[in-house]
Amino acid sequence: MRGLAGKVYIVTGGGRGIGEATARRLAAEGAHVAVVDLDEVLARKVAASLPTPALGIGSDVSIEAQVQDHFAKTIAHFGRLDGAHLNAGIGGAWGVGLADTEMDDFDRVVAVDLRGVYLGLREALRHFRKVGHGGAIVTTSSTAGIVGGEWVSPYVGAKHGVVGLTKTGAVNGGPLGVRVNCVAPGLVVTRLTDINESVVANAAVARQRQIDTVPLGRAGSAEDVANVVAFLLSDDAAYVSGVLIPVDGASLVDHPRARAIANLQKEGKARD
Ligand code: NAD
Repeated sequence: MRGLAGKVYIVTGGGRGIGEATARRLAAEGAHVAVVDLDEVLARKVAASLPTPALGIGSDVSIEAQVQDHFAKTIAHFGRLDGAHLNAGIGGAWGVGLADTEMDDFDRVVAVDLRGVYLGLREALRHFRKVGHGGAIVTTSSTAGIVGGEWVSPYVGAKHGVVGLTKTGAVNGGPLGVRVNCVAPGLVVTRLTDINESVVANAAVARQRQIDTVPLGRAGSAEDVANVVAFLLSDDAAYVSGVLIPVDGASLVDHPRARAIANLQKEGKARD
């Protein structure tokens, strides 16, 4: 991909999962990465394993001073900053409908998933306004940032908010030459989507049920998402800003009622 080699990017939540895959993909393209994660040991481990000079930083994206600090450390270390993948996120309590949501869970999820993206976006825009050259930012929302769901309402609310921040960031970033885009992963196998047997009786059956809702017929990998993030950060996407790209195997464009019948047919429970 054009324009990534020699550039410097912050990747939050880079210690594992989608963020780790982005860090690896950017480094494979010749970029230098600051791997930022709440888990400093993981961040340092990923950074140490990259093929280009990298930095591992322990930082909490929901805390203003720590976000300012990991931006400052990155710029001081590499002497420049060209963009960020604002990706760190948590799921919150599963299996809880809105009426039963706990305030603490709502506040925790919104702090990391929404305030964390806001703080990173604000810091990046301040940086680009100061240095006078453009850059690129990608946020991580979710298909839960596009449609609602019976469960995890704090997550759904926060991820919808990320889409809004991305759009307004793109408008604010335009005059600065800064592009801001968003990826919306569907079902991607990471620690975040581990199916907890305390929630469902049979995790394997539950996972298959999830996969049955994906027209491409498989769960996504962290690399599937990282490839799109790298494209959006690269010069190949030079005229793309303010967009939301689902990386979901066509899950969102399938008709839920038609899918329900199709799945019954597959199980031999409906007539031809
Ligand atoms: P993951 O749990 O594998 O990795 C998330 C990383 O973020 C972890 O290393 C964790 O330590 C870090 N992190 C958590 N809170 C943090 C904080 N406050 N500050 C800094 N780092 C923090 O999860 P993942 O699946 O790779 O998720 C990455 C992003 O993708 C999240 O925003 C998530 O909501 C989103 N997403 C994931 C899926 C999926 O199916 N896996 C689907 C849609 C969206």
